[in-house]
Amino acid sequence: MNEINTVGVLGAGTMGAGIVQIAAEAGLEVLVHDPVEGATERARERIGGFLQRRVEKEQIDANEAADAMARMRPAASLEALAAADLVIEAIPEQLELKRDAFRRLDATAADEIILATNTSSLSVAGIAAATHRPERVVGMHFFNPVPLMALVEVVAGPQTSPEVTDTVALFARRLGKTPVVVADTPGFIVNRVARPYYLEAFRIIGEGVAALDAVDDAMRGIGFRMGPFELIDVIGADVNFAVSQSVFEQFFGDPRYRPHPLQRMLVEVGRLGRKTNGGCYDYGADGSRGEPWSGLTRRASGPQPPALDGSQIEARILATIVNEAASAVADAVASPDAIDTAMRLGTNWPDGPLAWGERIGLASVIHTLDALHAAVPDGRYRATPLLRSLADGGGSFC
Ligand code: NAD
Repeated sequence: MNEINTVGVLGAGTMGAGIVQIAAEAGLEVLVHDPVEGATERARERIGGFLQRRVEKEQIDANEAADAMARMRPAASLEALAAADLVIEAIPEQLELKRDAFRRLDATAADEIILATNTSSLSVAGIAAATHRPERVVGMHFFNPVPLMALVEVVAGPQTSPEVTDTVALFARRLGKTPVVVADTPGFIVNRVARPYYLEAFRIIGEGVAALDAVDDAMRGIGFRMGPFELIDVIGADVNFAVSQSVFEQFFGDPRYRPHPLQRMLVEVGRLGRKTNGGCYDYGADGSRGEPWSGLTRRASGPQPPALDGSQIEARILATIVNEAASAVADAVASPDAIDTAMRLGTNWPDGPLAWGERIGLASVIHTLDALHAAVPDGRYRATPLLRSLADGGGSFC
């Protein structure tokens, strides 16, 4: 197994700076390269500010902060990162940009180096194919903000060697993170299993069977920190829509992942959330949340469908989440335990979806899905065969 003492970080933006910070705090030597003039210096200043606040809160002492700062060094070129034992790439999410960076690293680095990508939506296989050593290329998917989020999805491409996956998982632990190993599949675990939390919420308001704030209230009522629409306003409707589209396209248009027209409409009108001071909700000048945005409030005439109560809203959203988690198990994306851990740590859900499904009762989840499928039989609500067989046989994911 490789010993990792020096880490190279390519790209010193939001994610790169966070990775640099936690690696330096964990006692590693860190080389940083960003080709954009002043980017590395700005990242260094931001990290200095974070560490200073940690000192003020007495989480670390001033010597520890100074030592961490001293362990970060700018690298003059991308090629200079090849001196590290592991390079983590955190440059913009464009396949050709990443492939070019990996090609250049491959041409320079020693055989033993491990090359990791922080991509959230591209395949590790597609990036690894730019090198002559796909077995040493792996995904390390951190979550934002890196210093605070405990999860790292360690993404094993089809050619990644198990030794590299194990080394990187151990390394993530050294950074104080919880690694889950996941197969190189669309959305990995978190961006896939979280899809129905938003999508089913949009379908519910689109059908006019509940108001937007009633959906948020229902989900908060069962322990989610934020309802789907509040959360979209934090994440950004543009980011939410881009991830939805990416997963949908990667599954070749499977109706289960089809984005909702209301997601696109929010982006088209520029209601991106808190960052534009309005998204699914309006916000006051002090940032306080106001009313649901009138553009998402239904003004239909003619016969109206019967409204759902809170427990029916919960049942619909939970059933689609449990079904998606079951489909990830069936597709060998990760173990049931890894899926539950990833969803708790990567999205702050109060419980893992599979454990939750078992608490509700898998038969009850199937019952909800079958009723939805009977009403809308286009495949979006089809129950995962594994889920159905466990429900029928009284089996368990655990
Ligand atoms: P960012 O725009 O904040 O940072 C990207 C950095 O890369 C910038 O500093 C830029 O100067 C630099 N850069 C641009 N072109 C480069 C090149 N050719 N070589 C090296 N550096 C280059 O982006 P980010 O949000 O930090 O995202 C980086 C990666 O992490 C993306 O793949 C993204 O999908 C992934 N990711 C982002 C988040 C998130 O919430 N922001 C979460 C998980 C994963």
